[in-house]
Amino acid sequence: MPFPDFLQHDYPLKHLNTFSIDVRAKHYLRVTSVELLRSALADPQLAAMPRLVLGGGSNLLLTRDFPGLVLHIALEGRDILSGTPSHHHVRAAAGETWHNFVQWTLAQGVGGLENLSLIPGTVGAAPIQNIGAYGAETKEFFLSLTAFDPASGEVRVMDGADCRFAYRDSVFKHEGRGLIILEVSFALPRAWQANLRYAELANAVAQQGLAAPTAQQVADTVIAIRRRKLPDPADIGNAGSFFKNPVVSAEQCAQLLEKFPTLVHHRQPDGSEKLAAGWLIDQCGWKGKSMGAAGVYPKQALVLVNNGGATGAEVQALAAAIQADVAQRYGVALEPEPVFI
Ligand SMILES: Cc1cc2nc3c(=O)[nH]c(=O)nc-3n(C[C@H](O)[C@H](O)[C@H](O)COP(=O)(O)OP(=O)(O)OC[C@H]3O[C@@H](n4cnc5c(N)ncnc54)[C@H](O)[C@@H]3O)c2cc1C
Repeated sequence: MPFPDFLQHDYPLKHLNTFSIDVRAKHYLRVTSVELLRSALADPQLAAMPRLVLGGGSNLLLTRDFPGLVLHIALEGRDILSGTPSHHHVRAAAGETWHNFVQWTLAQGVGGLENLSLIPGTVGAAPIQNIGAYGAETKEFFLSLTAFDPASGEVRVMDGADCRFAYRDSVFKHEGRGLIILEVSFALPRAWQANLRYAELANAVAQQGLAAPTAQQVADTVIAIRRRKLPDPADIGNAGSFFKNPVVSAEQCAQLLEKFPTLVHHRQPDGSEKLAAGWLIDQCGWKGKSMGAAGVYPKQALVLVNNGGATGAEVQALAAAIQADVAQRYGVALEPEPVFI
């Protein structure tokens, strides 16, 4: 049976993943409408194939050519809904670029998402790992989303409880894997207050002499800090933080502190302790080191980079060597943040 003519074949993915891994998709569809998605998945041949839903490709490690169908989500559109007396409600289609969406909300005079400025990727992927940065997480502003269920062909509406958000986690990494997010809505407080809980951000705002910063000024500060600390994927391939910060019991943390008094740790509301993965990797001597064409970013040990022409397997091997070192020295398991494909 011939494939539908809206499909492309043997499609290069190098420019569609921020690690710049040079692999190809057997079949590729740029999903510009829900109708197109429906008709693709109504085709029995396509529905039966392995499937990769792709947003901005900024949280993926492609380890080889993809043998099935890549659905590249390019749904566009954003609007401000009527909201409630206490909250603005804003909505964006899954293919909108996250950072552009955040900047657009600010330009509409709607604050709240500014701490999450400059996180790469799409709106549709934001709930997947409950993206977070600078003392804020998606779940704090999340209202609802719609998701296409390929199994039933239905569109579901899901609220925050349905999404089961946690640190860099949600239902979409578990039972909800396979659902295709179509659009996401956020509730942003009309009574805006700067969130300066994150010390580095508070200090940077204070250094500018901003006693009462606007949401845009907070965004600009976050953008400046991020530009200073993180490599721009346009210049050097990477997927941001490569490992999650491991969470250990208070008891394990106390034992580690006896041996390593400078261990960087943050107490969590439930009494557990979050360790700084970057610090653990740095202490094992990995900062700036390379294995083949994959390396550890010299300015931030938590970021693995493609120094040029790295394969996904090389990045994977480097990650495994780091995990083994950290486990041996600290007895702590590091879990990768990007999805390995
Ligand atoms: C320089 C840099 C800095 C970063 N900083 C941060 C940070 O501060 N905080 C943070 O949390 N993350 C950060 N990240 C990681 C990344 O930006 C986020 O995880 C982002 O949400 C990924 O979006 P994406 O569209 O690129 O997703 P992709 O990489 O395309 O996909 C990631 C996963 O989501 C799935 N997916 C994507 N879109 C959909 C959809 N519409 N429906 C269903 N599943 C979907 C994919 O199948 C895949 O499993 C950073 C990455 C980089 C490169």
